[in-house]
Amino acid sequence: MNMTRISNFINGADCPPAGNRYLDNFHPASGMVSGQIPDSGPEDLDLAVQAARAAFPAWSAMHPEQRHDILRAAADGILASLDQLAEAESSDSGKTITTARTIDIPRAALNFRFFATALLHFSSESHQLPGVLSYTLRQPLGIVGCISPWNLPLYLFTWKIAPALAAGNCVIGKPSEVTPLTAWMLGDICRKAGMPPGVLNILHGTGPGIGAAIVAHPEIKAISFTGSTRAGAEIARVAAPMFKKISLELGGKNPNLIFADCDYDRMLETTVRSSFNNQGQICLCGSRIYVERSLYERFKRDFTDRVRALRVGDPADPASQLGAVVSETHYNKVLSYIRLAREEGGIVLCGGEALHMPGDLSGGWYIAPTVIEGLPTGCRTNQEEIFGPVVTIQPFDNDSEALENANASPYGLSATVWTNSLERANRLAAGLQAGIIWINTWMLRDLRTPFGGVKNSGVGREGGWEAMRFFTEPRNVTIQM
Ligand code: NAD
Repeated sequence: MNMTRISNFINGADCPPAGNRYLDNFHPASGMVSGQIPDSGPEDLDLAVQAARAAFPAWSAMHPEQRHDILRAAADGILASLDQLAEAESSDSGKTITTARTIDIPRAALNFRFFATALLHFSSESHQLPGVLSYTLRQPLGIVGCISPWNLPLYLFTWKIAPALAAGNCVIGKPSEVTPLTAWMLGDICRKAGMPPGVLNILHGTGPGIGAAIVAHPEIKAISFTGSTRAGAEIARVAAPMFKKISLELGGKNPNLIFADCDYDRMLETTVRSSFNNQGQICLCGSRIYVERSLYERFKRDFTDRVRALRVGDPADPASQLGAVVSETHYNKVLSYIRLAREEGGIVLCGGEALHMPGDLSGGWYIAPTVIEGLPTGCRTNQEEIFGPVVTIQPFDNDSEALENANASPYGLSATVWTNSLERANRLAAGLQAGIIWINTWMLRDLRTPFGGVKNSGVGREGGWEAMRFFTEPRNVTIQM
């Protein structure tokens, strides 16, 4: 395997970590070390903040059309490197090359394109009284921190960075230490797109190390974070007394409600995806599947048949439908939840075990897609986020029981409802405790819509104007005429 040693990206250039400390990076498909990444510390952060401080006046004052052109060029640069980025993403995360090529990387480019155009249309309010005009200035915050997770690495990193830059801020970005490669490649793409040095700085390293240092830095005015509820709570604890703006996109345990009157074939096909796409490692995957009792046995048979037929294999093979899970720690966590489900009385209908690949991949972290029944909503398996290829199925008898089960969770990110009753769909959409509701679809994203969760799934919204507002400070100006 080609060992890659990557650098930080500071002031438009590759920078080795000041302390010369590195962390191993792993290749989940084989379990082998694939390279090294900087274990950055406060000195690296100081350099990045200095660069961002110097770049901010010109970047924030730049004509919107020029800023648009640079962000558009970054989007084009991502697409021009689609194959290399997709290979890096798949190698780093264990996701299939098909997922990386068709979902992750195109969406990363779209994030830049979308917010490049958003900045051209972003406007602010004005209010009038007789003889009085008030208007709102929306100004960039300054230097902001963007911290992202491993499950959709470049996709979620750019989902934060693009609006932050579009709004005129300078960014200190930190990708997950588990999947650093595509963020490293992004630095070069942005430089070639004409982004001035210091506007975007990318630091690698651990959450408790460089991640926590970014959150605590007094010059960093806002933190946009996507990751676990545990880390989100820690970030809020540090950032709140410093009065930083925070946007926290956290964990989920999403319900999927299936009613007997749904379009069965479409529901079945989508439910296989919404359960196991990216090895179940998407915060929006539906991991608790509730099925109306009259449909339950049919669904159980057809669903488990489909799940058994999914091809788990080498992520680099375009024929694989599931690859490896992201890390050894995560592999052990997911397997421990399958053991817990059995201890809690769950019946494993399919999967329920690690899979072993031949040859070079024998040390990789593969788990068979797993369907479990017979567990109540209140048990730990159904309450805690597993974030792997594991779902539970459970029957319900009426709408109110379905709603009660769906809401009986500390999380509230998304929910999916399958029904052809418009009245039921709208009633449930209003009653479900979740930030995103999909009716007869899943993961259909219009980037203009607000994105985020309630309860332990976070605070704040990303997407469209919500993101542009988060990354700007409104200032009221009132004139007596
Ligand atoms: P994580 O919280 O362990 O790490 C996320 C990022 O935060 C990483 O870059 C990590 O280094 C950093 N980090 C960790 N502790 C930190 C701290 N104290 N201060 C600053 N930074 C810190 O999460 P993960 O395991 O990488 O990702 C999986 C989690 O992300 C799951 O819970 C999943 O549901 C969630 N997620 C949520 C969304 C959403 O939109 N709501 C999307 C994707 C993933």
